[in-house]
Amino acid sequence: MLRVKNLNVYYGGIHALRGINIEVQEGQIVSIIGSNGAGKSTLLNAISGMVKPKEGIITYKGKELPKTPHKIVDLGICQVPEGRLIFANLTVKDNLMMGAYLRNDKKKINEDLEKVYQLFPRLQERINQMAGTLSGGEQQMLAMGRGLMGNPDLILLDEPSLGLAPLLVKTIFEIIEDIKKMNKTILLVEQNAYKALSVADTAYVLEQGIIKKEGDAQEILQDKSILEAYLGKT
Ligand code: ATP
Repeated sequence: MLRVKNLNVYYGGIHALRGINIEVQEGQIVSIIGSNGAGKSTLLNAISGMVKPKEGIITYKGKELPKTPHKIVDLGICQVPEGRLIFANLTVKDNLMMGAYLRNDKKKINEDLEKVYQLFPRLQERINQMAGTLSGGEQQMLAMGRGLMGNPDLILLDEPSLGLAPLLVKTIFEIIEDIKKMNKTILLVEQNAYKALSVADTAYVLEQGIIKKEGDAQEILQDKSILEAYLGKT
């Protein structure tokens, strides 16, 4: 579904991604794990068109991706950014509707809104609350719900567990598995290696801009060197 070939990204003199190759199969959860500054967000930003690579090709459903973010969104790729970036002064419902602003299929939008409420009952309880007054976990749910309101095929999820209490982390990862069951494909970047590997089909380990390891997520989860290097950090 998505293929990244020889991706190189620089920020001035910093070579943030060094010849990255990844593949995401339709219907899968693919996790990219790695510590702070490994280049995880940069990879998602390059796919969503927010960062311009110096070199490399990204193809989606067999065709090269356009360079502009809104054209990439039009193709059904949605990014849920780190830090959530919700509209603090809008209500929960208005934030969700912002996710559907490119659509005009009203009936389907309402159906998707219902699905989002089923997935996140907490959001439904708070539809008229200002988004800025939600807890961190609720804001994460809102950012994910808003992404789903665009009816994407591929969701780029950046550190969904960041800053959340353990119980909420568990909930968020259960919801990620539920989203997969809605026939969505998910590319997830996470520092919480254990959780990210537990839900994934395929995984990549990113270290200082280079893919150090890749393969079946459950096999990587059993890999002693990975456990030692990354699970201490979760
Ligand atoms: P974290 O888990 O801490 O968010 P990450 O794996 O997502 O880290 P990136 O945010 O992709 O890592 O950063 C990769 C490298 O690129 C880091 O060294 C970072 O300082 C650098 N970097 C990221 N964004 C910029 C920018 N806009 N300008 C300059 N350097 C940047």
